[in-house]
Amino acid sequence: MTDLAPLLARITDKRDDLIALTQDLIRIPTLNPPGDNYRDICDYLDRRLSAHGFTTELIRAHDTPGDSEKYPRWNIVARRDGAQKGDCVHFNSHTDVVEVGNGWTQDPFGGDLIDGKIYGRGACDMKGGLAASIIAAEAFIETYPDFHGAIEISGTADEESGGYGGVAYLAEKGFFDPAKVQHVIIPEPLNKDRVCLGHRGGWWAEIETFGEIAHGSMPFLGDCAVRHMGAVLNKFETDLFPAMALRRTDMPVVPEGARQSTMNINSIHGGQKEQADDFTGLPAHCVPDSCRIVIDRRFLDEEPLDMVRDEVTGILDGLKSSRAKFDYALTELNHVLPSMTDRNAPIAATIAGQIQKVLGKPAQFVASPGTYDQKHIDRIGKLKNCVAYGPGILELAHKPDEYIGVDDMMVSVEVMVRSLAALLLPKD
Ligand SMILES: [Zn+2]
Repeated sequence: MTDLAPLLARITDKRDDLIALTQDLIRIPTLNPPGDNYRDICDYLDRRLSAHGFTTELIRAHDTPGDSEKYPRWNIVARRDGAQKGDCVHFNSHTDVVEVGNGWTQDPFGGDLIDGKIYGRGACDMKGGLAASIIAAEAFIETYPDFHGAIEISGTADEESGGYGGVAYLAEKGFFDPAKVQHVIIPEPLNKDRVCLGHRGGWWAEIETFGEIAHGSMPFLGDCAVRHMGAVLNKFETDLFPAMALRRTDMPVVPEGARQSTMNINSIHGGQKEQADDFTGLPAHCVPDSCRIVIDRRFLDEEPLDMVRDEVTGILDGLKSSRAKFDYALTELNHVLPSMTDRNAPIAATIAGQIQKVLGKPAQFVASPGTYDQKHIDRIGKLKNCVAYGPGILELAHKPDEYIGVDDMMVSVEVMVRSLAALLLPKD
């Protein structure tokens, strides 16, 4: 076994560098939407990683959603080859952050360090994780320049809006070809003692019910689309929600409430357009001829997508045959299949083993209720050996006063460097 003492000493020495790097990343406001400053953060990472011997490539995801001359979707992939052939370990982090929102007591782009916590939008989700992976890679390379294989670090756009201008684009271009990359770690904030194996699927659709416009004083002369939608929602309550609640998954989804199928009704609108807040007029009297909802159905590894779709269309078709004048249209908006890496897969087992060593307790295997970029690495890249592991408290993501704990980041850095040593140093 290689003596890891010099490696562990080196990461201790890099604590201040880790803090400064995290602060620098937070201070580049990469808000998405619209996709601000992607080029700036890629240039920053380019300078940083080039100075540490990485070969870098900046890739713009042309013609993906949101890409324009004003808001180009820039990504960076950096690679450092070792002295000999071996596996490639790839760390993928998204560089975008969600809107700031209200309720902050700290500067959201200040990156201030207070009592061991660095504050800012994206501190936890996931610039702290990106910084941790960079420090881990640099410490490992400086200590063992003759390592086997390669280390890649990518900073990608648009995860918060689906990842099409980021990881999906890179996967289509072959950056996650299993012949080139063997292990992927996504340092999303799943907590320092957990290995996240994957996520549930999602299916988003708009349903519209139709009616016939008439004077509101004589609704019998028209047909009310909102009442038809009421019948749909009633069927969801009596049939769909109870059926979904019975379906449990073997996926270790956290929190517990997400270990079953779920569905959110994102929006509902029927009839007259909503007016601006400063409009002072009264409504006209009409029977609505259209009502729309958007549904957000999250499904399990055990549920085929066709079944998820058929269950909803079955309810709608049932109403069509049983309810007078009922008619509908369903438009699928998007879907994402579940992704689930085996807990015995090399990257999952390696990280879990190192968590046990560093924290002295078994790692918890979890799955995420929502999706993240693993879906593209799995479905487009066809690379299964991928997990999420990174510092930060999941519940702080997207909240006011988001922060990352420096001690948590240091634990993750240690787990990451030990994992690199396990995968990229010769076993003698
Ligand atoms: Zn994230």
